Amino acid sequence: MVHTHIVLISFPAQGAINPIIQFAKNIKRMGVKVTILSSVFAQNRMTKATSSTPDGLTFVAFSDGYDDGIKLSDNQELFRSEYKCRGSKALSELIKTSSEEGCPVTGVVYAMQLQWAAEVAREFNLPSAPLWVQPATIFALYFYYFNGYGELIKKICDDASCAIELPGLGKLTSRDVPTFMLPSNTFSIGLPGFKEQLDALDAEVNPKILVNTFDALESKALRAIGKHNLIAIGPLVPSAFLDGKDPSDNAFGGDLLQKSRDYVEWLDSKPQSSVVYISFGSFFNLPLKEMEEIARGLLESNRPFLWVLRALTDGENQEDKLSCKEELEKQGLIVPWCSQVEVLSHPSVGCFVTHCGWNSTLESLVLGIPVVCLPQFTDQPTNAKLLEDEFKTGVRATKNEEGIVEAGEIKECIELVMGDGEIGEEIRRNAKKWKYLAKEAAKEGGSSNKNLRAFVEEIEGGFQ
Ligand code: UDP
Repeated sequence: MVHTHIVLISFPAQGAINPIIQFAKNIKRMGVKVTILSSVFAQNRMTKATSSTPDGLTFVAFSDGYDDGIKLSDNQELFRSEYKCRGSKALSELIKTSSEEGCPVTGVVYAMQLQWAAEVAREFNLPSAPLWVQPATIFALYFYYFNGYGELIKKICDDASCAIELPGLGKLTSRDVPTFMLPSNTFSIGLPGFKEQLDALDAEVNPKILVNTFDALESKALRAIGKHNLIAIGPLVPSAFLDGKDPSDNAFGGDLLQKSRDYVEWLDSKPQSSVVYISFGSFFNLPLKEMEEIARGLLESNRPFLWVLRALTDGENQEDKLSCKEELEKQGLIVPWCSQVEVLSHPSVGCFVTHCGWNSTLESLVLGIPVVCLPQFTDQPTNAKLLEDEFKTGVRATKNEEGIVEAGEIKECIELVMGDGEIGEEIRRNAKKWKYLAKEAAKEGGSSNKNLRAFVEEIEGGFQ
């Protein structure tokens, strides 16, 4: 029998790498040989950060022409086309050499935006499937946009007082949709990119789309679109926090940024559920004016906090620009990067002020931490709506007329979530409930575990 050998291809961004790495670990545990194809930049950073490749996974690197990493100021279109061109070649090579070496590739799983990987797989007659690393709700929403509901969605985006009810997704207003749909959107990728991906999937026979979510979390959205087979295989979070079988799998092990360590000792010194953790993900930086508001909100809340403020590309520390830096340092700790899952699983953390990236959203649920949502762009507003209205584990902070969340609002939201009131208690109860349900989905025989096993078996059968 041919050993199952799946090649995984990720986009070189932290939010895309983390779920792919966890997916790799999960199928490796099911006896699959896994090779991760990634850019030189991503591989160098991952191995530097971990001193060895995470969990003994096999990495093969290719140069995408951006070995020092892609910056927001670089031409993104050019980067994508280089990534596609060089990545396709590298994948073909990998498939050929694996065959020659007696361990042929039997399937390909790729980040949804890398449709070229499916084309290469087709050339070699291999089964392939995309991994969608946003909620099923977003997939369904984009799908509706291009399939009969575009005009209605545009209408609510133009008029904040309008709402729309979409099958499986409930009521939505302009506050709840991904920013790619809003007239203010300045990104050229987003929606057109998704349309291309959908068209490419339409060219496949019975395409399967792996989604980083779980059945109990998004049961209606997962089934909203009969045409596409969305398979929930998440949450893709280190398994020590889920099935608990492998306590050493307690971090992603693929950090693109260097973390500091002193925060663990600092957290150890704080009372249970007392600390506010603040992070806005791996690439977004808040404008200084908004950081000042958060800083004052934290000071007014008078609670200990751990705040991730990454160094800027010119090497400057963001906290040096804050007018109240000294006061902040008396009350909390500012770090350039941390292992977020490790922080969220620490008993002293009681609240997560988040930009609501989907990984951060899932991590908050898996670790049972209530949230204050400060969504910025892309899928984040929708994830924030899910957290507040569907999962009910947090509150969305309201922006003022200038589009800024003021210090007083931040303080109030933190108090609501962490305080003794009824709302806080209910939020904390819900957070515990999702922590339990996430474990149920991931455990042996749980819904996501079963879905993943079935997928691996189908790859073994060549998707017959
Ligand atoms: N992350 C981390 N340390 C940090 C900040 C973020 O480990 O200091 C991780 C976090 O756990 C998550 C990922 O980086 O897995 C960020 O993904 P998300 O989808 O939340 O946001 P993005 O970076 O894509 O905006």
